[in-house]
Amino acid sequence: MTEGCIFCRIVAGEVPCDIVYQDEDFLSFRDISPQAPTHLLIIPKIHIVSLAQLTEEQQELAGRLVIIAKKLAEKEGIAERGYRLVMNCGSEGGQLVPHLHLHLIGGRKLGDGLG
Ligand code: AMP
Repeated sequence: MTEGCIFCRIVAGEVPCDIVYQDEDFLSFRDISPQAPTHLLIIPKIHIVSLAQLTEEQQELAGRLVIIAKKLAEKEGIAERGYRLVMNCGSEGGQLVPHLHLHLIGGRKLGDGLG
């Protein structure tokens, strides 16, 4: 656990959240400020600051993160209609929380813009 990291505090059970999935290595919960009817965050339990810090050795972890998102989209009932996965990286990428996370967003027609 990294001191002061809100998502590490969520993993530790110190901050309440609406958990939708967890296993030994990953946690998924509903975004506190949802941008669409389905807006989940999927995070590794270990503290990785961002995509920029992800190493070659963590390829499997990155792959599992995406597969979990895909399965959660099915569970949320949005897989057929479509959805968006977003991973913001760094300040210009719009990353506010410095703990690697994937946004799963769907349940409505999303805009064309990517910023
Ligand atoms: P990002 O801009 O990619 O770093 O996104 C961080 C996301 O975390 C934002 O969509 C926030 O609404 C969300 N968030 C921040 N704190 C919490 C929290 N305590 N529980 C759930 N979601 C949170």
